[in-house]
Amino acid sequence: MDLTLNDSEAAFRDEVRTWLEANHPGEEPAGDIEAFKFRRAWQKQMHEAGWAGISWPKEFGGRGATLIEQAIFAGEMARADAPSPANILGLVMGGPVIMAHGTDEQKERWLEPILSGEEIWCQGFSEPESGSDLASLKTKAVKENGGWRATGQKVWTTFAHESKWCMLVARTDQEAPKHKGLTYFICDMEQEGVEIRPLVQITGEAEFNEVFFEGAYIPDENVVGGEGNGWMVAITTLMNERAGLGGGAAVAISRDLGRLVELIKEHDLQDDPVVRQKVADLSIRAEALRLGGMRALTAQMKTGIPGPEGSIGKWEWAKLNQDLAELACDVLGVEGLEKGGPWTYKMLRSRANSIEGGTTEVMKNIIAERVLGLPRLR
Ligand SMILES: Cc1cc2nc3c(=O)[nH]c(=O)nc-3n(C[C@H](O)[C@H](O)[C@H](O)COP(=O)(O)OP(=O)(O)OC[C@H]3O[C@@H](n4cnc5c(N)ncnc54)[C@H](O)[C@@H]3O)c2cc1C
Repeated sequence: MDLTLNDSEAAFRDEVRTWLEANHPGEEPAGDIEAFKFRRAWQKQMHEAGWAGISWPKEFGGRGATLIEQAIFAGEMARADAPSPANILGLVMGGPVIMAHGTDEQKERWLEPILSGEEIWCQGFSEPESGSDLASLKTKAVKENGGWRATGQKVWTTFAHESKWCMLVARTDQEAPKHKGLTYFICDMEQEGVEIRPLVQITGEAEFNEVFFEGAYIPDENVVGGEGNGWMVAITTLMNERAGLGGGAAVAISRDLGRLVELIKEHDLQDDPVVRQKVADLSIRAEALRLGGMRALTAQMKTGIPGPEGSIGKWEWAKLNQDLAELACDVLGVEGLEKGGPWTYKMLRSRANSIEGGTTEVMKNIIAERVLGLPRLR
């Protein structure tokens, strides 16, 4: 692919950069609740200036940005170290799923409040015994007049405690083969019958939750894609999730690598051969991640959909982010074990990178089967 920006792409980059310089909201406050409020205000500000959902088509309130412009935008956000918008699951997954499979009424009802951050969305897929093997999930929904009653347990549900809506996949046909008996619902989280219990992570934050559905009510108009088609809609959600994880990753890594080099110099370790070798290794992998991202983008421009090679980037990024934070903590020594420091936080948070959005082992299976064409596992 041609790596130079054309005039309009360069103008777009300059516009994003100038806006971010003038409007960057500063550092996120400490504490889960305060940080979320801050990101919500940030999303509102982005929305008002037309920067929320830039990949969304104009007819749905987005900016209709090209893939290149999306990559430029993600890169500029990472470069400026700008916070994420609050409703990240709604923007990256909920909205695109409604646009792809929703009815006109559903688009009319849900898209605008996702963009503005007025209604937060969460993803109710994983269960205590169904993560990688999602289709084995047991939460069920039973038909009743004009709607459904859902019963079961979800887990690791990010931002459930802040959410108005949940993308809930539930079993609606116990007899059908496991991929065929599922239906995709948008469930109101603010009702009796939904109980949310926070789970505290290794970082000390409670970003995600256990969610218990005890006969939660879902009207018929909140079924997305039709009864029994939940697996197809879930796959659209996951493809958007992985594509969303990739955006800006290489720029964020190169920014953090720059900070790591500064840290190494502050600790006078720039001549240490082991440290030098590790930095060289990280730098080479960061460049490979950047170029691999470009290649995936080129393929997506031709086919229109994110391809399985996105799994290579997800795997590489997770490992690189973990190794980078670990080296920073090694450089810090005892200080790296102190709770609250930015590198310590990053080291602890990055442990989840090889699990969230599909584990590294699952990414390797996808690469083996769908990129390399090796025999299928089963
Ligand atoms: C920070 C974070 C946020 C999350 N947010 C959400 C959310 O908002 N909503 C949601 O629904 N889920 C969420 N998840 C859950 C995440 O999607 C699952 O943790 C993930 O899919 C793995 O499922 P599991 O935890 O059940 O592990 P399992 O699937 O039980 O896997 C256990 C181990 O076995 C390995 N394994 C499993 N199957 C295979 C296989 N076929 N071949 C080789 N190895 C295999 C895995 O790689 C892993 O090492 C989140 C997770 C994290 C860490």
